[in-house]
Amino acid sequence: SPQWDASCDVLVVGSGAGALTAALRAHDLGSKVLVVEKSDLFGGTSAISGGGIWIPCNHRIAALGGEDSADEAIRYIRAVTHDEIDDGRIEAYVEHGRRVVEYLEAHSHVRFEAQSAYADYYPEVAGGKSGYRSMDPLPFDARQLGEEFRRLREPSPGTLMMGRMTMTMKEARVLLCRGPGWFGLTLKVLWRYWRDLGWRLRSRRDRFLTLGNALVAALRCSLLDRNVPIVLNCRLERLVEERGRVVGAELVRDGRPWRVQAQRGVVLGAGGFERNQLMRTQYHPQPSRSDWSATPPYNTGDAIRAAQALGAATALMGHSWWAPTTHVEGEEKQRALFVERTLPGCIMVNSAGQRFVNEAAPYTDIVYAMYENNREGATSVPCWLIFDAEFRRKYPCGALLPGYAMPDSRLPKHLHSYFHKADSIGELARCIGVDPDGLLRTLDRFNPMAESGKDLDFHKGDSVFDRYYGDPATQPNPCLAPLVKAPFYAVRVDAGDIGTKGGLLTDVHARVMREDRTPIAGLYAIGNTAASMMGRTYPGAGSTIGPAMVFGFRAAEDIHGAE
Ligand code: FAD
Repeated sequence: SPQWDASCDVLVVGSGAGALTAALRAHDLGSKVLVVEKSDLFGGTSAISGGGIWIPCNHRIAALGGEDSADEAIRYIRAVTHDEIDDGRIEAYVEHGRRVVEYLEAHSHVRFEAQSAYADYYPEVAGGKSGYRSMDPLPFDARQLGEEFRRLREPSPGTLMMGRMTMTMKEARVLLCRGPGWFGLTLKVLWRYWRDLGWRLRSRRDRFLTLGNALVAALRCSLLDRNVPIVLNCRLERLVEERGRVVGAELVRDGRPWRVQAQRGVVLGAGGFERNQLMRTQYHPQPSRSDWSATPPYNTGDAIRAAQALGAATALMGHSWWAPTTHVEGEEKQRALFVERTLPGCIMVNSAGQRFVNEAAPYTDIVYAMYENNREGATSVPCWLIFDAEFRRKYPCGALLPGYAMPDSRLPKHLHSYFHKADSIGELARCIGVDPDGLLRTLDRFNPMAESGKDLDFHKGDSVFDRYYGDPATQPNPCLAPLVKAPFYAVRVDAGDIGTKGGLLTDVHARVMREDRTPIAGLYAIGNTAASMMGRTYPGAGSTIGPAMVFGFRAAEDIHGAE
């Protein structure tokens, strides 16, 4: 029998929102819990994300005047996943989601609000809703974390005003197109930041935490209350199995081997394999590059590989939570283009200068379209986002703040290579290696359609979902405007992701399964370490962290035989 360096009841690998939820529930059910995290900061991609969770039938809907039912939610998920997921996880998710959120709100610092106007990504599909299912974390005061705040992964620069001030999702939406009250709101965000004066003198980091930072901080704070430790710089290398049961793990802590016994179970919440180039080359459509990802560089599939070594089965390995991303010189991860494509005055084109997708489509669908349409002479991996001077002036785009706030003449040096700019469409096309005649033909067709508000080719702006991030001041279609005003701009768009979704095959209890569909005793997988229950699709905002948390919670319950 191996010599253990430490022992616990439940070992949780990774420190994203799902892992921390599993740790919290396992503690509350009476276990001694240990969380280990590979990097020197906790929170993973969850901490830099929007922190939204998609919870059908959540407990806030009725008070907001909305309606939902388990039947509708299940019908909707089945429809958008094309009946590919047939293992009961969909029912389990819908059944337990509400309870998990209610439990966290009653027993921890975690708080959510439902977004009444944020539509499912396919609201027109049967069972789809025009709002209420996506929930955002409420802001969290970092002072409650004390010293531990320094170990929380920092938010993405793209979610901060002027690169430093935090905003909620609702605030960001108002500021995006300078909606009603935007000026007062800007002052409010500035005030919130600068009034923390004592702290301002020490750090530029905002202590008013929002989005994924608020969610992870609230979970971490709740674990601090419970004395549950997170060991940083500690990565899983191998799982230890005895007589068909996982009983612990071999870790590397601060560069040295560390063997930890887990008497009741191991929960793998170590993210996907998006930062592992070999795995991307093996499993993904090509080309696929780890540095196109919008995630921190630590999710390299370690936990997936460790479980595969014990005979675990995998599924959906060719798929990701795809998102179009752009490269910013000097940044460790790319920036996802979630909303700017939706705004009026831009198009996405291939190397032949042709559009190939509804630019306002859900981010995962954009990258599927990039791969499906990629062919010689009409390359769409990468493709180009093209916009005109009016778009540049009014709206942010990736790393670019709107021109009214940061004109080209005042751009920092590292952004000079972020885009191409030319006085005519033909010249712009030549700069980026796109067929000039093709691009001109595309605009000859697109511009009159944009004027009329009807995109006959790809239906941009037809769906309620498209319009959520449109500019209400642009009519008749808040997602369409012609590209007419020089200079013209182009930003390269890569086939990126916000995490992979292929991983270990799990059952309704988040138990890891072998090829023959028997569970490996003592082993659980959640979040992007597990194959997604959402198939190839993305039903609504929060479809990755929602299941990560719900199945993290369920894993802890199964370990303790609780319902
Ligand atoms: P993570 O949160 O990445 O956590 C995994 C952790 O495991 C990491 O800290 C990693 O360092 C650690 N780890 C890796 N290997 C090991 C090892 N061998 N040993 C120990 N630890 C290890 N999704 C939503 O649902 N809602 C949103 O609002 C949303 N917004 C997003 C916004 C952005 C900008 C991005 C980039 C993503 C967004 N996503 C969102 C996607 C979502 O953030 C991720 O899919 C999700 O957080 C993944 O959770 P996870 O627990 O699987 O992994």
